[in-house]
Amino acid sequence: MNDELKIKFWGARGSYPAPGAGTVKYGGNTSCVEINAGGRTIILDAGTGIIPLGRELAKRAVQEKRGLELMLLFSHLHHDHTQGFPFFAPAYFPNTRLHVFGPGGAPETLKQVLERNQASETFPLSLRDMPAAKTFESVRESQVIVWGEEKVWVAESAWGGRPERVEGQPDAVVIRIHKSHAHPGGVYVYRITWRGKSVVYATDTEGYVGMDRKLVAFARDADLLIHDAQYSEKHYRGELAGFPSTQGYGHSTAAMAAEVAAAAETGQLILFHHDPAYPDDWVAAQESAAQTLFPDSRAAHEGLEIRLKPGFRSLLNNVAKPKPDFGSLQDGSKI
Ligand SMILES: [Zn+2]
Ligand SMILES: [Zn+2]
Repeated sequence: MNDELKIKFWGARGSYPAPGAGTVKYGGNTSCVEINAGGRTIILDAGTGIIPLGRELAKRAVQEKRGLELMLLFSHLHHDHTQGFPFFAPAYFPNTRLHVFGPGGAPETLKQVLERNQASETFPLSLRDMPAAKTFESVRESQVIVWGEEKVWVAESAWGGRPERVEGQPDAVVIRIHKSHAHPGGVYVYRITWRGKSVVYATDTEGYVGMDRKLVAFARDADLLIHDAQYSEKHYRGELAGFPSTQGYGHSTAAMAAEVAAAAETGQLILFHHDPAYPDDWVAAQESAAQTLFPDSRAAHEGLEIRLKPGFRSLLNNVAKPKPDFGSLQDGSKI
């Protein structure tokens, strides 16, 4: 079987879509990342990047004459992470199964926010007009989402473990959650592990003085870290003509992202959530700034595809490094 963990970027822009001649290289769509783990598709956020992804998935379903089963994880529910959802083609197919997870204090919160986004005053079609079989579940930091070999379920990890595999199910995808408070309203950081390879998705987060140590611990030894790097140093500090300081806005500089990657000893670092006002050469400068601190850094662009192969931690170094064992879950611990 194909045991590469595939990551593809469909939208890498933050805050609002930024089409135009100046953003062709990195793209103008807002946050959306596709992860493929042994044929299972996990989508991170539903910015406008989910619209072309949806078209691609729909085409695939028609060609292969089968229904789709998809998982969608929301980091948080700000506009730039939800605005593509009403245009997500597979949600309009009755034979699609869509497992949606995200933050929220009560079980209905996530669904209520998405319903509100599609109220009749603001959008012609409601959630009920999307005939896919959808489940919406607000999850907590203490829980672990599992896409097992036969079903999707949520387990408690209140015992303090950090499981990344399921007993007897080597093909299970295990998703852990870290709630970061370094963004207005909070944001979920996800760690997705499959067959020993891990991707950490840390968008919409701001660095702290001396680093975000909880995030460093959560991202420890991940093969790939996708980290917010919205602002240049000058912009962040308010030294860029025409731009106010963005300290406290809940976004990072390239240096903050690189610091986390270096301290957590991750494999590759992908800079994400580019400022919509930044033309391509500004984003390229962000990339160079990160590379001086963490050489294996790249800025995400639409269409960027990364394949994590067993044993390879880094594209630059091709180093194989033993990973710590975070323990395992028992099957069926449905709550
Ligand atoms: Zn955002
Ligand atoms: Zn946000």
